[in-house]
Amino acid sequence: MEKAVLPLSSQQVADRFAKVLERINSAATRVGRDPSSIIVVGATKSVDVERIKAAINAGLKHIGENYVQEAMRKYEAIGDAVKWHFIGHLQTNKAKYVVRFFEVVQSLDRISLAEELSKRALMLGRKIDVLIQVNIGAEETKFGVPPEDAIDFIKAAAKFEGIRIRGLMCIPPYKDDPEDVRPYFRKMVWLAEAVAKAKISNVSMDYLSMGMSHDFEVAIEEGANMVRIGSAIFGPRG
Ligand SMILES: *Cc1c(COP(=O)(O)O)cnc(C)c1O
Repeated sequence: MEKAVLPLSSQQVADRFAKVLERINSAATRVGRDPSSIIVVGATKSVDVERIKAAINAGLKHIGENYVQEAMRKYEAIGDAVKWHFIGHLQTNKAKYVVRFFEVVQSLDRISLAEELSKRALMLGRKIDVLIQVNIGAEETKFGVPPEDAIDFIKAAAKFEGIRIRGLMCIPPYKDDPEDVRPYFRKMVWLAEAVAKAKISNVSMDYLSMGMSHDFEVAIEEGANMVRIGSAIFGPRG
């Protein structure tokens, strides 16, 4: 039998969001970082508009969606009250919808997608921020550019004028103990430093998007300045 997951109340969402912010503050403070430099992206796949709005009312300013259709439906109700990040795997033929209202695509992992996003953004007279998704654990089941290819990939993607490469994103291997994820986060920091050093035009390493409900404190200790948090704010997904 499937276990029914009851949606949380708006108050519960607000309380959980406040607790997450406290934990972010403590993690940042532990390593001498300014907590206000860390952007919280609420990962809202399968979360309904009511609960997303509860988090926005409690101060959430960025949300991340994984599916284009679902996001378009929610955008009708939420609009620009929040900044939209695309964090799922993006099919090339859906780029044209994403450039309409997403601020950032965090999952750029192939040149054909860079080209299409750029073309579609320019058609709307805009540019779109992107992060490069890195498959930091070299897992066969995960999307992302292999770390050893990242610099060449970024050099090639940087040529498209409708995108701005602003940083890196990763979904590291799942480990029961978040301490075991630390080496992957550390590797991401090294990689971002190497990219910055390469001084590629149209590329800045402003954002390092890593850390989810299970491991965001470790990610922040290592240098993440963007964390994508779903269940810790919105409860378990049904
Ligand atoms: C779902 C999701 C998250 C958040 O996961 P939680 O474990 O619920 O915090 C973060 N990033 C991506 C890409 C996701 O798909």
